[in-house]
Amino acid sequence: MNNLKELKDRFPILGEIGEGKEVVWINPDRVSFAESGKDCELKKEDIADAEARLKRFAPFIMRCFPETKDRGGLIESALTEIPAMKELLNVKYDSGLKGRLLLKQDSHLAIAGSVKARGGIYEVLKHTEDLVFEQGMLSMEDDYARLAEPEFRKFFEQYTVQVGSTGNLGMSIGIMSAAIGYRVIVHMSADAKQWKKDLLRSRGVTVLEYESDYSGAVKNGRRLSDEDPKSYFVDDENSRNLFLGYAVAANRLIGQLTEQGIAVDEDHPLFVYLPCGVGGAPGGISFGLKHVFGDHVHCFFVEPVQAPCMLTGMVTRLHGDISVQDIGLTGRTDADGLAVGRPSGFVGKLIAPMLSGECTVRDARLYDYMRDLLESEDIFLEPSACAAFQGVAKWGKSEEIRTYLKENGLTDKMKDAVHIAWATGGSLVPEEVREAYQNTYPEE
Ligand SMILES: *Cc1c(COP(=O)(O)O)cnc(C)c1O
Repeated sequence: MNNLKELKDRFPILGEIGEGKEVVWINPDRVSFAESGKDCELKKEDIADAEARLKRFAPFIMRCFPETKDRGGLIESALTEIPAMKELLNVKYDSGLKGRLLLKQDSHLAIAGSVKARGGIYEVLKHTEDLVFEQGMLSMEDDYARLAEPEFRKFFEQYTVQVGSTGNLGMSIGIMSAAIGYRVIVHMSADAKQWKKDLLRSRGVTVLEYESDYSGAVKNGRRLSDEDPKSYFVDDENSRNLFLGYAVAANRLIGQLTEQGIAVDEDHPLFVYLPCGVGGAPGGISFGLKHVFGDHVHCFFVEPVQAPCMLTGMVTRLHGDISVQDIGLTGRTDADGLAVGRPSGFVGKLIAPMLSGECTVRDARLYDYMRDLLESEDIFLEPSACAAFQGVAKWGKSEEIRTYLKENGLTDKMKDAVHIAWATGGSLVPEEVREAYQNTYPEE
């Protein structure tokens, strides 16, 4: 990219990002929700449609995955207050955090053990419904539990589902697709952890490994899938379905907040911190949150210092047309779920008028936050998911955040604020890998 110098002159923060420094960035392009929602290609009705579809599939999910019985076949996670972690962050990092701190435990979502159980599984279900509707094998009024019967399995066995993944998306698509009966091929990038490949193979999923990064795995997966008319490719970078599956999270959060006696309004702002890879999960969830809480919710993404693809796209407004390699970064990080070099252009453009800001985090800190949470709350998250705590830990010390609060008239309201760290993965991590993580201290 020969205009890098020009870009750095126009956007000085790009220099710091390109040197792998931790930054906090406030989005200058955010507008009121009333304005941003107006000409958006996706609407509230699209989220409602996705939510209704997940309800229709609930009896089927419950039949295939009995662990979802407690929630009637809905794949949903707990919202847990973590006061001891708040205290620890304030003492250890001088975070200056006021208000309440909660953890949204998508790390413990049924079936896939990560946030990908939202978007990934939704997309497979949507595709499945499209197929059986097309064949007239099922209608919306039928009991979807029937989809588990042998005649349907036989039908699905003719079809293939393929996906490119750094790990967790492959697990969610792979496990669900295999349960329905599809042939599944997961194209795994170099960053994918061995245990994730092993787990998938044990479920009968074909795992192809690449030496390239995520974008390379996606490219090859898409090519192979396009050659086969009975194959469906899950396109994490461009899929509206995947995005809407994530967005449903927000509607379900309303009841959970009410249960905890938490109001979100003019005087009680909600701050949400979301680990970001290609952008679908944090983008979809933020999109949903904006539709529910409007200007009272403030969404921040967090990315690794070597793979801040969404941030790079946002700052330059080039979105999918720039990669982290273009600005001199490696794209390599221990946070496999976030190891993405080029952001989704679709998500970047859609979320740009809604996002409050972003921050970046060094790998070493992810392991620190992981140990902090274990010590204070006895909850395990994978390193990628711990990125959420960077937003929280940076709170009091960041001049950018202070200015943001002032400009938005929030400074005096912070004692009544609620912060949610969105924990995106971890419950399926095997014990020996957890132990290894606990003793990992990457070089600064
Ligand atoms: C995939 C993933 C994310 C980010 O989701 P994207 O859609 O790639 O932005 C965050 N955390 C974990 C653990 C993930 O697996």
